[in-house]
Amino acid sequence: MATDIGFIGVGKMGFGMAGNIRKKMPATATLHIYDVNRAACHEFVQKFSALGPIEIRKTSKEVAARSKTVLSMVPMDAHARTVYLDGKNGVIGAPVDSDRLILECSTISVTATKEIGAEIIKSGIGHYVDTPVSGGVTGAEAGTLAFFCGAPGDDPLVTRIRDVVSWMAKAERINFCGGLGTGLVSKIVNNYMGLTNIAVAAQGMAFGLRYGMDPKTLYKCIKGSSGDSWAMDNAQPAPSIHANSPSSNGFQPGFATHLCIKDLSLGIKAAQEVGIDASLGETAVKLFEKANQDPRTGGLDCTSIWLHINDQVAAFAESQNS
Ligand code: NAD
Repeated sequence: MATDIGFIGVGKMGFGMAGNIRKKMPATATLHIYDVNRAACHEFVQKFSALGPIEIRKTSKEVAARSKTVLSMVPMDAHARTVYLDGKNGVIGAPVDSDRLILECSTISVTATKEIGAEIIKSGIGHYVDTPVSGGVTGAEAGTLAFFCGAPGDDPLVTRIRDVVSWMAKAERINFCGGLGTGLVSKIVNNYMGLTNIAVAAQGMAFGLRYGMDPKTLYKCIKGSSGDSWAMDNAQPAPSIHANSPSSNGFQPGFATHLCIKDLSLGIKAAQEVGIDASLGETAVKLFEKANQDPRTGGLDCTSIWLHINDQVAAFAESQNS
């Protein structure tokens, strides 16, 4: 059907994003979903099928074949290449359709999205646009994400892209950044700055508290002052200061440390490719790698670097086992 939509990758982010699509797309149109994790698909159907038809498909190709608009939200370059370019099961095997809109929302490299986009466009499978997001799992669930779209503001597809994306985003946070790949350039710059800020906030809060300051008083001093940042609320590394932060919820992700390392590494590589020194990011990524290599914090949110900076890993692990 002309209004059917496909969503590939219903993980932590995709689940909420696709859920908002199901809530706001025409009630009679079908949402086709696919994830290599079948359990995630079944959980999605259980949660949202009262809102309208949802079909679990066996491959990305099947999703695309049945959809006029396709979205994807998978972890890294390799996963996105499989979703789109796999000769047997990828989107590239779907029937040619010059009217199909493809919005690739994952945070992957600029090089990968340009390669995938060029192949998909050349094969006539659809209009491919990189549309990465910011705002985390909370924003995905609430439909308040920011979108960075790799299309110019005067592109003939702007209205169509905006119509779909606005089901998952705040209207004023939908950005049209330029040509193919510019959505990801914007996203990678954003994450380079945001994730480095988390590391800086963790070190600053840690030494402030070690001087004996009351955590909430220190937070209040910095809020609205020059050291303030998005991280101070949404990824506050010190536990029990801000309810929104994973650190106040046993460091459950949120934004897993391995994805944080991936995004910082994308930023470092992108900076180096154009001759910009990325030493602050290189220092931050070393801190996150330390947390990720420790089995006691490996699967946790990236704010768990707090435990390493403060030598609190053993006590934390014990509290989780008791
Ligand atoms: P996730 O691992 O929770 O979800 C990814 C999903 O993709 C999983 O369910 C996985 O099974 C599925 N998948 C992997 N390969 C697949 C394939 N070949 N075909 C179909 N499904 C496949 O990760 P996430 O946290 O949802 O992140 C997804 C993307 O969004 C990443 O690129 C991440 O950097 C980006 N992102 C995450 C956040 C966040 O806060 N978690 C915020 C903004 C952007």
